[in-house]
Amino acid sequence: MKNNNNKPIVELSDIKKIFICDEVETHALSNINLKINKGEYLSISGPSGCGKSTLLSLLGLLDISSNGSYRLSGHDVCDLNSDERAIIRNKEIGFIFQSFNLISDLTVAENIELPLSYREDINKKQRDAMVKASLTKVDMLHRANHFPSQLSGGQQQRIAVARAICGNPSIILADEPTGNLDSKNAQLVMALLDQLHSEGATICMVTHDPRSAARAQRVIEIFDGKIVSDQSHIKTSAIAV
Ligand code: ADP
Repeated sequence: MKNNNNKPIVELSDIKKIFICDEVETHALSNINLKINKGEYLSISGPSGCGKSTLLSLLGLLDISSNGSYRLSGHDVCDLNSDERAIIRNKEIGFIFQSFNLISDLTVAENIELPLSYREDINKKQRDAMVKASLTKVDMLHRANHFPSQLSGGQQQRIAVARAICGNPSIILADEPTGNLDSKNAQLVMALLDQLHSEGATICMVTHDPRSAARAQRVIEIFDGKIVSDQSHIKTSAIAV
């Protein structure tokens, strides 16, 4: 399956996010309009404090905007309560974090299975098959019964990628996925994201690393809470990370 078929997964319109802390207002995001089509691979960059994490939190339904509308896979997700958001988040979104966020006293297989175990539409047999398939995809099936502490950082991030893709989410949100990795492991994780994208995954990655950003086909720059640049280009997968 190849890339963009112009079906929007994400539609943000006029999004604002204002934090109020000790009566001080911070306008973290203003007038964000963003459409992400199925099969797109985009990166979001910008200086520290410009609003990247805030945007990723809104996209991932971890937070709600102060204004504006958000349609995810064609459904308005603005007025959901936190339980409803959690159900949709679990089904529609795969997260990859800088610090892997694996649970240390669960095995690799249990870590990957955990988000699936909250889904009523998937039984145990299906869960086992999905865990096995995602571990095979990241070439880590032989580590299914290990604990995270027995793995290198690069291997842990590959497990986190397996967890993110296991439930067939509509979009993968990656927050500085190579930020805690040496260059060799960073290269492996970026190659894995390239592979997922070539197989049809929709990926939105926050990164401050221009070499990682260049792997995406669409590069978005944020400054002071606003999108100041949104450019599509031919992906340069040969660039070393
Ligand atoms: P980035 O990820 O680009 O570094 P953030 O999205 O974390 O930027 O932050 C954007 C702005 O919003 C910053 O000024 C930050 O201090 C502020 N901010 C982020 N989260 C909160 C919060 N929970 N409470 C108050 N201000 C916040």
